Amino acid sequence: MDRPDPGTAPAQAVDQPAWDQGWLRQARHLPSPNFGPRPAAACIDLVVVHSISLPPGEFGTGAVQQLFTNQLDWDAHPYYQGIRGIEVSSHFFITRAGEIWQFVDCDARAWHAGASRWRGRERCNDDSIGIELEGLEGLRFEPAQYAALNGLCEAIAQRYPIGFLAGHEHIAPGRKQDPGPGFDWPALARLLASHAATAAWQLPTTTADTPK
Ligand SMILES: [Zn+2]
Repeated sequence: MDRPDPGTAPAQAVDQPAWDQGWLRQARHLPSPNFGPRPAAACIDLVVVHSISLPPGEFGTGAVQQLFTNQLDWDAHPYYQGIRGIEVSSHFFITRAGEIWQFVDCDARAWHAGASRWRGRERCNDDSIGIELEGLEGLRFEPAQYAALNGLCEAIAQRYPIGFLAGHEHIAPGRKQDPGPGFDWPALARLLASHAATAAWQLPTTTADTPK
């Protein structure tokens, strides 16, 4: 992370809160038009972890950011023909280097989960926060991504009453496979257990629960 030059940084930056409404200050903000209001009285108690890369398996192309802001050139790659016109978003995207991007205000409903069910409730977009990790199902993720995810979860816990974290593969079994077998759930569980704010979060019990 870049450190601000102490000679030029505004004095108030030291005491700035982590959040500006539902926007995390430390993230790079790239507002997406793909969002809507959450249902009244939605209790935002779930974090959903995904993986994505565009084209699949290519990193750092900028295409994910373009997809989430309806700026992707559908003719730029053959793979895009299969997703032409889709309008999706997530609240956050964590690059391979651990950089955090935010596309949707966490107080609003992003379009990342689709048909889904978890902790006895349907329509997980209504009351979850979506985090996309730059990656590919089956591939491992970078240590910088786990570190960023851990810090992001801790920040989310400051503002939202999260009780659960699950993968897209858990909330939409049979339909979705991300983040996939390369994601180290025990490692994330250890990281979250090390902070009081996230220690009580319930994760999927074992990866063996995941349909093959
Ligand atoms: Zn997903």
